[in-house]
Amino acid sequence: MAKNIILSAKTADDIDTRVERILQDLGNPEPPLALETVRELLRLDFGYYSINNPGLLQETAHKIWLAGKQILLRPTILIEAVRKFDLKALYILDQKRILLDQDEPVLKHRWNEGHEIIHSVLPWHEGAMLGDDANTLIPSCHAQLEHEANYGAGKLLFLRDRFTKEALDLEQTISSINGLADRFGNTRTSTFWRCVETWGARVPVIGLITGHPHFDMRKDDFDETNPCRHFIQSPAFEQQFSGVDERNVFDQIVGYCSSNRGGPLGADEVILIDDNGNSHLFSFETFSFHHNILTLGIYLEPYKKVITSVL
Ligand SMILES: [Zn+2]
Repeated sequence: MAKNIILSAKTADDIDTRVERILQDLGNPEPPLALETVRELLRLDFGYYSINNPGLLQETAHKIWLAGKQILLRPTILIEAVRKFDLKALYILDQKRILLDQDEPVLKHRWNEGHEIIHSVLPWHEGAMLGDDANTLIPSCHAQLEHEANYGAGKLLFLRDRFTKEALDLEQTISSINGLADRFGNTRTSTFWRCVETWGARVPVIGLITGHPHFDMRKDDFDETNPCRHFIQSPAFEQQFSGVDERNVFDQIVGYCSSNRGGPLGADEVILIDDNGNSHLFSFETFSFHHNILTLGIYLEPYKKVITSVL
């Protein structure tokens, strides 16, 4: 189950303070944050590489950190390491250089760059070249350094409290998430992730990123035992509903979703059971962005069974 994990308060504070300093030095800019101004401030070099055009990857690598593990290499041309480990982004410490795979979808570049920028500003990430594959660049990555880089990237790209304040003033809907994604210049998915955590700090909120739930629309690789790409639980949800099974939640979504290819797929009230065995009502809404289907679930109230008696 792809649950999100939570950092220690001390580490989170430390990362947040460093991001705060960057934003202050930039004069607390309006969204969307221009990453080239961050690179300029931090004197970071930047480039794109491509497996088919490895101009920037000619140098030799001896060791590389990937997913929290140091990998020692016999002196290897960097391009070989990139191929072998399927790296999507790199931070080369001695050159203060960020390199991104230009063959990745353009929408992902921004998140990947934010992730590498955070590697560059956390002194305890120093030591070797840092490499990232598709798994280390998602917010639920469990490797400590990668989770820290993703946490900081979120703080940076969403301008810390600026996003929190604006999101809390909005209706908790997928339409609001769309507006916030446009305003802050980030992907729907990363904005969705952030909204679940922001809206769900005190009230249980859940977010699912899945393939199409409707039977007629499922892809060949759909796996019934593991139906969610990401099962995002807000801090308050995790505290009270840690036993909720993603398959059960997904089945309830299947119950109300239409087979539309894109746009709204449906909405309904869904009952989830907390860790004390009590039932609660959530308001669910599902929207198709074609390659990703997002479902947002917001806590409503304890569920009261309506008992009808026959006289
Ligand atoms: Zn990384």
